Amino acid sequence: MSTNNKKFDAIIIGGSYAGLAAGMALGRALKMVLIIDSGKPANAQTPHSHNFLTQDGNTPKGIATLGKQQVEKYKTVSFYNGLASTASKIENGFEITTDTGVMFEATKLIFATGIKDIMPKIPGFVECWGISAIHCPYCHGYEVRNTKTGILANGEYAYEFSKMIANWTKDLTIYTNGKSTLHAEQVKKLKSHNIQIVEKEIKKLDQIEGYIQNLEFTDGTKSPLTALYSPRPFIQHCAIPESLGCETTEEGYIRVNGFQETSIDGVYACGDNTNRMRTVANAVATGTTAGISASKKLIVEQF
Ligand SMILES: Cc1cc2nc3c(=O)[nH]c(=O)nc-3n(C[C@H](O)[C@H](O)[C@H](O)COP(=O)(O)OP(=O)(O)OC[C@H]3O[C@@H](n4cnc5c(N)ncnc54)[C@H](O)[C@@H]3O)c2cc1C
Repeated sequence: MSTNNKKFDAIIIGGSYAGLAAGMALGRALKMVLIIDSGKPANAQTPHSHNFLTQDGNTPKGIATLGKQQVEKYKTVSFYNGLASTASKIENGFEITTDTGVMFEATKLIFATGIKDIMPKIPGFVECWGISAIHCPYCHGYEVRNTKTGILANGEYAYEFSKMIANWTKDLTIYTNGKSTLHAEQVKKLKSHNIQIVEKEIKKLDQIEGYIQNLEFTDGTKSPLTALYSPRPFIQHCAIPESLGCETTEEGYIRVNGFQETSIDGVYACGDNTNRMRTVANAVATGTTAGISASKKLIVEQF
């Protein structure tokens, strides 16, 4: 379907796992759909994606490409490569403008726009992100099980996270990158599990093609390491839902109900931007729900 057409039943912003799943559900309901995608999924740098049934170990791109090929078969679904920059409410729907000034209209809007991780200012970290600097044991813990592993965190968070990671390796050190804020009871418990605490300031991650070799400290010493867990703070990848007035949660996710409906009538959200269960499986599941919910509303309204 060509994007010469400017009016759609639904526009999906974000064409990664959640957006493609929503597009498939709408396409199968014979709805006219446009998927606008700027091509920057969160897991782009990860060599292999895990824990998604039938695709375990495939590349992130491999999974997305297969998904897109399957959605492309539905002739009422169109794709637009680019960045949606604004959305406004119009009579009976919404108008979307891209950064190049192209305009589209739709009755329903679905945001499948993901989140953006905020990187620490430690040289070498960005290169290792998703390769050996990781955020989630369910995505990558199995691959680095029983290896020399670190956690870059402090205080309560570091304590709670270390309980989890100790399941995958017994060679575990918490790097607080400055004075520890763990309290005495926590330190005692960590020691009893042989979990070390290092308070030295980190100068950089020594790495080769994203694989950490050592953590280097400002005092000139080094710790050899295979994997570094580092849960990251995040922001929404796309500011449009907020500008439209969609409510967000205290944690910074777009607030949705069980049908992936946001607080704005006709606007849906799915995938990473809506909840902390950050997996490809969950993005696909919530995307499917959003697509079914939006199509059902359209079917009833168009009857
Ligand atoms: C380093 C790393 C490794 C991971 N490894 C795994 C793993 O092994 N297994 C697993 O299950 N999960 C893994 N995840 C989680 C997984 O990547 C996410 O849960 C999944 O990508 C979420 O899909 P999504 O469609 O919601 O968002 P994303 O995949 O992040 O896609 C969002 C899309 O929206 C687009 N977009 C955003 N704003 C706009 C706009 N204004 N206009 C147009 N397009 C826009 C972006 O360009 C992007 O293509 C990992 C995550 C990270 C960060």
